[in-house]
Amino acid sequence: MNDIRTRSVHTGVAKDSSFNSVITPIYPTSTFYFDALGKNKGYDYTRSGNPTRAALEENIASLEGGIGCSVTATGMAAITGTLFLLQPGDHVVTGDDIYGGSYRLFAQVFAKIGVEFSFVNMRDLNAVKKAIRKQTKMIWIETPSNPLLNIIDLKSNIEIAQEKKCLSVVDNTFLSPYFQRPFEFGADLVIHSTTKYINGHSDVVGGAIVYRDQALRDRIRFLVNALGLSQAPFDAWLVLRGVKTLAQRMEAHQENAMAVAKFLESHPRVKKVYYPGLKSHPQQSLIKKQMKGFGGMLAFELDTSKVELNKFFKSLKFFSLAESLGGVESLIEHPWSMSHASMGEKALLASGMTKETIRVSLGIEGSEDLIQDLENALKG
Ligand SMILES: *Cc1c(COP(=O)(O)O)cnc(C)c1O
Repeated sequence: MNDIRTRSVHTGVAKDSSFNSVITPIYPTSTFYFDALGKNKGYDYTRSGNPTRAALEENIASLEGGIGCSVTATGMAAITGTLFLLQPGDHVVTGDDIYGGSYRLFAQVFAKIGVEFSFVNMRDLNAVKKAIRKQTKMIWIETPSNPLLNIIDLKSNIEIAQEKKCLSVVDNTFLSPYFQRPFEFGADLVIHSTTKYINGHSDVVGGAIVYRDQALRDRIRFLVNALGLSQAPFDAWLVLRGVKTLAQRMEAHQENAMAVAKFLESHPRVKKVYYPGLKSHPQQSLIKKQMKGFGGMLAFELDTSKVELNKFFKSLKFFSLAESLGGVESLIEHPWSMSHASMGEKALLASGMTKETIRVSLGIEGSEDLIQDLENALKG
């Protein structure tokens, strides 16, 4: 099963031997009985392990090319579990434009218990090297960045981590394993918010930690169980249902993103478009080197002297004004006042965002409808 499309449909989807159901059953049980002391069928308690969750874990591990995976209740639970690999006094180098929830967890929770963080511009490899200290134990990479779609060099940053003998972790939520596989560049752990593309239907929150080797597997599985981070069987089943169409959805998201990006780039009321699939994106060679596609997210600068923001959002029929991303329905939002508001004005400006920046998650609708909708709203 070398084709990722085949793996997403078949891997882990254990056939039910009791009644031959084609689809993985949901096992909504907290506990499992023993046949005799020391003898069970591999499961004892659902926080530690559950067959429905195990099916999803096998599936996601196979898509990323890891040796295994822990599926968690949310993306933040996956990130929390991973950060608990560290101890007070340890140091992490990460980007200055990472997901806001990760920034908050690092700066307001783990920093309080003595883990130290350097938030640097990771496009600048010298800045990353300079930030490394004796106590650096982890390099945390997220690429492309949110919302401006800056690309961080996976291979070079992972090499910096390997030289320093510290862990490299990649949050691969934005492209999904269909378009980017960080293990191919030597990453130790790959993180997902499965809430986004892996589930893809905006109807569940979830996360995943995929591991490269056995030692990490053992420690992460211990942590997820000890901290109580694992995902409920019903939610895991929903994600397993969603992931089977990952390839087809990613292609459709990308097709729409490309069409809409080109349309916006040619529109006089749009000042700038950020999309890795456009020739105007400044990091072409890096994009070719590490991405198998451009994804379904884009951002643009709206000329708000010509189009009033609220009116623009209100006129749209097919783009809901909402945070989150990666679902089959198109979403649009205003990072300055919504997803990225907690960064504060100074950090927002420093990262290149303005009050005119708009982020779009393209769904899988017809691109003509989406473009017509935007064209109409841009009339102001
Ligand atoms: C949404 C998101 C998360 C957090 O995931 P939740 O499922 O919301 O907890 C982490 N990283 C990235 C890149 C995300 O987009």
